[in-house]
Parts: sequence; C-alpha cells; structure tokens
Amino acid sequence: MLENSLAFAQKLDAADPLRHMREQFHFPKAADGQDEIYLVGNSLGLQPKRTETYLAEFLRDWRELGVRGHFEPKHAWLPYHEFLTDASAELVGAKPVEVVCMNSLTVNLHLLMASFYRPTSTRFKILIEDHAFPSDHYAVESQIRFHGFDPAAALIVVKPREGEHCIRHEDLVATIEREGASLALIMLPGVQYYSGEVFDMQGITEAGHKVGAHVGFDLAHAAGNIVMHLHDWHVDFAAWCSYKYLNSGAGSVAGAFVHERHVARTDIPRLAGWWGHDKKTRFQMGPHFQPIPSAESWQCSNPPILSLAAVRASLDTFTEAGGIHPLREKSLKLTGFLRFLLESEFKGDIDIITPFEPRRHGAQLSLNIDLHGMKAKDVQKKLETQGVACDFREPNVMRVAPTPLYNRFEDCYRFVQMLKATVPAS
Ligand SMILES: *Cc1c(COP(=O)(O)O)cnc(C)c1O
Repeated sequence: MLENSLAFAQKLDAADPLRHMREQFHFPKAADGQDEIYLVGNSLGLQPKRTETYLAEFLRDWRELGVRGHFEPKHAWLPYHEFLTDASAELVGAKPVEVVCMNSLTVNLHLLMASFYRPTSTRFKILIEDHAFPSDHYAVESQIRFHGFDPAAALIVVKPREGEHCIRHEDLVATIEREGASLALIMLPGVQYYSGEVFDMQGITEAGHKVGAHVGFDLAHAAGNIVMHLHDWHVDFAAWCSYKYLNSGAGSVAGAFVHERHVARTDIPRLAGWWGHDKKTRFQMGPHFQPIPSAESWQCSNPPILSLAAVRASLDTFTEAGGIHPLREKSLKLTGFLRFLLESEFKGDIDIITPFEPRRHGAQLSLNIDLHGMKAKDVQKKLETQGVACDFREPNVMRVAPTPLYNRFEDCYRFVQMLKATVPAS
C-alpha cells in the first residue's frame, strides 16, 4: 500500500536498488543552492559525470596523435561508432547488425524514408497521428511532396476520439485496414511526446504489414524509457535521438534501426556516402558503392567523435544500471507513485491524460491543468522559479517525467507538495 508522506517516499528510496545511480549525474542548482527537482529528463537528460572524462579522452587522443587517432587509441575513431552498437541494440531490442548511431533524429527519418517510402501511383499514402511532433510532420509532408504527391491526398492523419487525448489502438488498426493497399508507410511514435501514451508497436506493425505497408517508428520518447523488441516485432525501421532519456547532450548523435531482413538488400535505395561502404574496400576509393550488410550502410559521413563519446558515456551509464529492464521496473514504480500522490492530493481536479495501464505509459505523466484560473503554462512557470524543472507543451499540458536513473521517490513527493502550494486543490 502506498502512502502520501515524505517518510514513505524516503522508505521507497532506501529500498531502491538503483538509488546509487543518482550519484553518477550532475544536477543543476536551484536558487537556494540545492539540486533542482529535475523532472524534465524526457526533454533534456542530465549530464553523466563520466561524460567529461570520455570527451577529454578524445581531445587527448587528437592532441597527442593527430591523424593517427583514427587507428591507434583504445577508442580509435575509425570504428568508434561500433563501440556503441551492442548497448544501443539492447536498448531497443535489436540485433547489433540492425542499429547504428549516426546523424540526428530528423535526418535519420529522412534517410530511412528515402529507403522505405517508395510511393507508386496506387500505393502512396503515409499514415501519421494528429499530434505528431512538428518535425516529424514536416519531414513526412516534405517526403510526400518530394515524390510529387499532394499531402492533401497522401497524408492520413489519425486523431483521438472527440473529448479524448490518446489514440485508441482499434482506431489505428481500423484506419490501416480502411486505407489498405493505398498505404505505403506508417510513421508513428513509440511514445507520444504530448500525452505520454505508449503505442502498441507490435500490433501496429502487424496491421501495417498485413496491408503491405512499411512501418517505421520515431522513438525519441521511447529509447531509454520503455522496453522494446524491434527485431521480434518485425518493425521495418526506427530512429531516436540521444539527448532525452539517453542523456547524451543537446543535439548529440542519434540512433537508427533497420530490420535484419532489409539490411543486406541491395534493391533498397540508400542515399549513400562513403561511410556506408564496405569497410574492407572503403579506402580503395572506388566509384562503386558496396553497402555494408548492416544498418551501418545508411551512414553517409564519418561521424562526430566528440558527440559519439558523449553517447558512449551515456550508454555505459545505462549498462552500469543493468540495462533497460531494471530501469523500467523502477520507472513503473516511480511514475506509479507520482500518479498516486497526484490523485491523493488533487482527486479529479488535475486531469492526468497519460493512460493508467502500465504497458500504455512510460516515465512521463502529462497534466492537463485548469484550476482556480491557472493553466498548465502558469503553473509550470511558477514552479520553475522554485527549483522545479518540468515543462509545458501547447495547448495545455505540463509534462512531468521522473526518470529512474537519477530521480528519487522523494522528488515525486516534493514536487506534488510544491504543486499543491502553487495550485491548491478545490
Ligand atoms: C525530440 C523530438 C524530435 C527532435 O528532432 P531532432 O531531429 O532531434 O531535432 C523529433 N521528433 C520527436 C517525436 C521528438 O520527440
């Protein structure tokens, strides 16, 4: 039985097998010099302490070895992205040949759509959701136009039902079945950034494949947050950024997944570059592109090692915590406790739009606030001045995401007490 008290929160922290992981991170300070109550790891993850060491290692290698840094140091630059492969694969439930760290998220979506959105005169539509992250919407629309189609006809947008905030799985499946053979691609998030809803990626992939469409996921809010099995689910492709739950720093190198059954195909066009070319013959500098038979063949350029070092630091921190499974286990308890506290204090006064069922939510709860004339935006601004970091998204949601790597149960308790001081329950 959960209790709404500081003592109980501290008891949960004392029993938490991952509590030592908090020491691995730097915390921004509030005005009073204390650590901020940092509940915005869904937007920008905190800096792991080892990141500085890993970056310094790269700077040292470059300083001392110059061009020999490509081959000689322990973490040589030529294969540097390979040091990230196993941990990345594990995070998303993939085989190592299926993942690569490269570019940024939206760029990866474009590169993958170049391969997997191959519209014909009869099969040309892309299905997205109504509240898609703007970048995803722009990317998809521009792909449609790039191929000479009209988004008015080719873009299928699934909406939540009237008065609801989340999209029902049965509505997605019904739309997929209705569009059938006209559907070329389904592009959905793994976790919806606004509502915090987790989509049934396996069910969507099955439904998509049944009508002959490719299925890709944007895992910006899913990677490092929930457990996934992209390989077993037969997802065609996916991409994710590394600066949200993956704590690799703003704009750091992103990840990409291509299912094993596609990676060695030469009939799939890639927007090619030399880093996607077979490693054995890359430096023969020949004119014919021979793709590496793995997701690496989608790489265009030699990558920014400085940024890959930050990703490696983050992945090592995940590995030290035991990987995504124990983190998800704690995350469900942490977010469950936060929901319990909100419901104890506010009853129905604050509308938590994130689904209740564990398999339908990640770390984040989205609070639709309209209380005593205060909206989500006002509340978030006020809390910010008091050392609480959470965020606001238009039109009216405050997002709160306790992350299991560095948040405590006590943070959830203190947050709810401060929220109560800002907007008293009626
Ligand atoms: C954070 C986020 C992005 C950001 O895209 P970048 O290319 O990393 O700037 C895109 N899509 C979704 C769904 C996101 O949550």
